[in-house]
Amino acid sequence: IKSNKKSSTNSNIVVAVRKRPMSEKERKKLDHDSVSCYHPKVWIHSAKFKVDGITKYLTHTGFQLDHAFGEESTTDQIYLATTMPLVDHVIHTKGRATVFCYGQTGSGKTHTMSGIQQILAHDLYEELKDHGANTEIKLAFFELYGGFIQDLLHDRKRCKLLEDGKGEVNITGLQEVSAPTADSFLQVIENGHSQRTTRTTEANDTSSRSHAICQVFLRDSDSGKLKGKLTLVDLAGSERGSDTKSHNSQRRSESAEINTSLLSLKECIRALGQKNAHVPYRGSKLTLILKDCFSPDSKTTMIAMVSPGASATDHSLNTLRYADRIK
Ligand code: ADP
Ligand code: MG
Repeated sequence: IKSNKKSSTNSNIVVAVRKRPMSEKERKKLDHDSVSCYHPKVWIHSAKFKVDGITKYLTHTGFQLDHAFGEESTTDQIYLATTMPLVDHVIHTKGRATVFCYGQTGSGKTHTMSGIQQILAHDLYEELKDHGANTEIKLAFFELYGGFIQDLLHDRKRCKLLEDGKGEVNITGLQEVSAPTADSFLQVIENGHSQRTTRTTEANDTSSRSHAICQVFLRDSDSGKLKGKLTLVDLAGSERGSDTKSHNSQRRSESAEINTSLLSLKECIRALGQKNAHVPYRGSKLTLILKDCFSPDSKTTMIAMVSPGASATDHSLNTLRYADRIK
């Protein structure tokens, strides 16, 4: 097993895995379950064969992360372990925090992220009742697709990424939306999600090739000054970074872009975990957008999603290797 020796030393980075349940479709295809989670370890079994009617596995590959959630785990449990500590950090230290969902298309990234957003809506406003005098919540929700930023709360309006002379990164044209209550928060998020999927068809699934970034700003209600920021990132399907042999040239360049962004992201989070390391946030548009998520006092959680099926083993291993390298 690849044990993660540093896991207890740097609490600013938390890495978790979540395995989703087998789907009806996978059962029908007689795909079999090849992932086991024994917190905080996860095992991928491969090369299944039968001896005298008994199923055996040729190899097991294990990883030890900070948390391993099996198919029986609830989004409540995931929220408690991955996001709640970040909400505390954002409110009490006026800090920055980021949650990433990483994994192949169909592994449960959007399912998990929207579950987290539901619980966050209630938890955040509950916390602010006691600790949030003069704080208002604003939201921005956008997609990074093929190098372009599209505002999911304003009809996919295109926005521009700019870095000013002082090194501040700004997205011009991106509008924040006020969310004074938990219900309005959920409504705004819901609008953003529906913008993501309306154009999605089986044949042209842009959502799997885009990163969806939801920024929750805590601002002073008088001055508008930033008092904390939580960023939730539903990453592009990790397998999309290797569509490099596609005959479609647009597809190839999208794939190269995704590959670069996911590799850069890994390097930036790793740098965050090392004292005084240079954060190579200019390596991709994604990491440039997320620049302030890599400041030394930022907290980051990466949730690696895996599909349970044996047919997904290669992708699941890639996902877990990625997660394992983060710390
Ligand atoms: P991704 O965003 O990674 O492409 P989705 O979140 O869309 O994947 O999940 C793919 C399918 O699996 C969806 O139908 C989703 O509802 C289902 N699913 C994902 N995770 C779970 C889970 N933990 N429990 C039940 N169903 C899940
Ligand atoms: Mg998705």
